Amino acid sequence: MIQPLSHLPRHQLAAIRMLATDIDGTMTIDGRMPLAVLEAWRDAHTLGLRVLLVTGRSSGEALGLARYLPHASWAVAENGARLLIPDLPPELLVPPRPTEHLRDVALQIAGDKPLRPTADAFAREGDLAFERDARLDAEVLEMQRRAEDQGVFLIWSSVHIHLSTHPPDKGAAVLKIAERWNIAPEAIATIGDSHNDEGLWQPQRFGVTVGTAEVTRLQLRHTPMWKTQAHGGAGWCEFIAAWIGAQKN
Ligand SMILES: [Mg+2]
Repeated sequence: MIQPLSHLPRHQLAAIRMLATDIDGTMTIDGRMPLAVLEAWRDAHTLGLRVLLVTGRSSGEALGLARYLPHASWAVAENGARLLIPDLPPELLVPPRPTEHLRDVALQIAGDKPLRPTADAFAREGDLAFERDARLDAEVLEMQRRAEDQGVFLIWSSVHIHLSTHPPDKGAAVLKIAERWNIAPEAIATIGDSHNDEGLWQPQRFGVTVGTAEVTRLQLRHTPMWKTQAHGGAGWCEFIAAWIGAQKN
């Protein structure tokens, strides 16, 4: 049972020092990051919250965000596969991608509606990604079943479908980064909006797990403990406001 964020005990939020956050559908509204999100981030940053971007998007996009967003530092791309630190080479956090094999599987599982490679393929090395093209969850679930029959993992977000031979897991990547930042898992909150955020919501991993209002209509293996009342970027601001409120005695 996912509970409203407003029920989250204040002391649990007060102990949070790091937020691992999805981007698309979580920090955005209609595909853009609103000014309100950047302002909320600035306020939280001032009070000491470290924000780690954890996206299913390509390394290229994640690196740009890590460099240019005012309070960003590192970013994890491709659903936990690559770590981007501006001015350093990208770090692969998973085994190398067997590209040809994944292309073959993509052809086989798509049926009569071929999967369309994402335009960002040139900047992506951790997984193979395709446009979701408005496929319903039921269609994607059927493709996931076919992929699993071939030993391939399929994961999806509101925009993309991803194939990999390693289990895609944003949460595992977050734990690796948190260790380098010397932040305990109990002091980490996570927030996301879609299926590819399940690793961020895995039970017993993190102190606080949150979904935006979108999570109520998803069928998930791992659900967040808490959900915001607002959707997308407005939900992200709702979480930050709650965190800021909990820092004040
Ligand atoms: Mg998302």
